[in-house]
Amino acid sequence: MKKHNFSAGPCILSPYTIQNTAEGILDLNQSGLSVMEISHRSKDFMAIMDETQQLFKELLDIPSGYSVLFLGGGASLQFCMVPYNLLKTKAAYLDTGAWANKAVKEAKLFGEVDVVASSKDSTYSYIPKDYKVPADADYFHITTNNTIYGTEIKEDSDCAINLVADMSSDIFSRPLNVSKYAMIYGGAQKNLAPAGVTFVIVKDEILGKMDRAIPTMLDYRTHIDKGSMFNTPPCVSIYAAMHTLRWYKQLGGVEAMYKMNLEKAAVLYNEIDRNPVFMSGIENEEDRSIMNVTFVMTEEHKDKEADFLALATERGMSGLKGHRSVGGFRASIYNAMPISSVDALVDAMKAFEKSI
Ligand SMILES: *Cc1c(COP(=O)(O)O)cnc(C)c1O
Repeated sequence: MKKHNFSAGPCILSPYTIQNTAEGILDLNQSGLSVMEISHRSKDFMAIMDETQQLFKELLDIPSGYSVLFLGGGASLQFCMVPYNLLKTKAAYLDTGAWANKAVKEAKLFGEVDVVASSKDSTYSYIPKDYKVPADADYFHITTNNTIYGTEIKEDSDCAINLVADMSSDIFSRPLNVSKYAMIYGGAQKNLAPAGVTFVIVKDEILGKMDRAIPTMLDYRTHIDKGSMFNTPPCVSIYAAMHTLRWYKQLGGVEAMYKMNLEKAAVLYNEIDRNPVFMSGIENEEDRSIMNVTFVMTEEHKDKEADFLALATERGMSGLKGHRSVGGFRASIYNAMPISSVDALVDAMKAFEKSI
């Protein structure tokens, strides 16, 4: 039986992506070769790279003047590459969770870091709103979706200085106004492809302004100049990403994904709010993530967490346990998650309510 996969990352991919990637692994375009065993400079792979970049630009409506890169090292390497390339004296960061915190830690190696606001004092259960971004900072870094805690910044805000966003876990979940950002990056393993590739959308004009020497592989300009082919790119992950993006396009693009995501999130949050056994840990409704839905058991049922997990597991659900730093449950309902799986979870919550 196919499981209902609520894993936070790596996570569910569409059957379309898995099926088509599997075919290309066995035999790419009837070439008699696998996508795993051809040169990244071959005609077949160059076409894959080109189409993946094109689909990024088309689906996210990326204006001219931006480059789309596919790199290694995960979103975590971006925590260091961003300041390496952009931090001259000072950078501003919004601390909305563990990933944001890791980004802050790396930036401190390169200069002064102004953490403009943090929700750490309440286990990151809200998005701080009341803060000022210093005008003299080189850039302002945000994490739009806080995968571990289930909070999300759902709007593209205006920022007077370069805005840099880690969108690892909500890219392609909603329409974006890319022109408001100087850079957007993320690991692929949450809404795009298996782990191994990191996407970077960067405004070309912000680069090349540093005095420090930047190691070749860590300089965005190297990868722009070589079309993400300076060294061997993660070919299979990029191939899988291409199929995911084709699938998004067939379904109607990010607007259609957004509609489905809102619907799935509403079904689940409604049940969390209705069911007396469960509750959301997120302080403000507007901060609730539509990708990672976190919830806990109400005080009087706290001792029954393991029982609910057992029931959900019995019903074919996987990956529901909350992150160890938060506890409770986390249902990651990324783009590829069908509403039928969300319905199955809601049914399990109802059944559990009746059973106790
Ligand atoms: C998963 C995640 C990361 C880390 O990604 P890696 O590719 O494993 O380095 C960073 N930021 C956010 C928001 C994430 O969800």
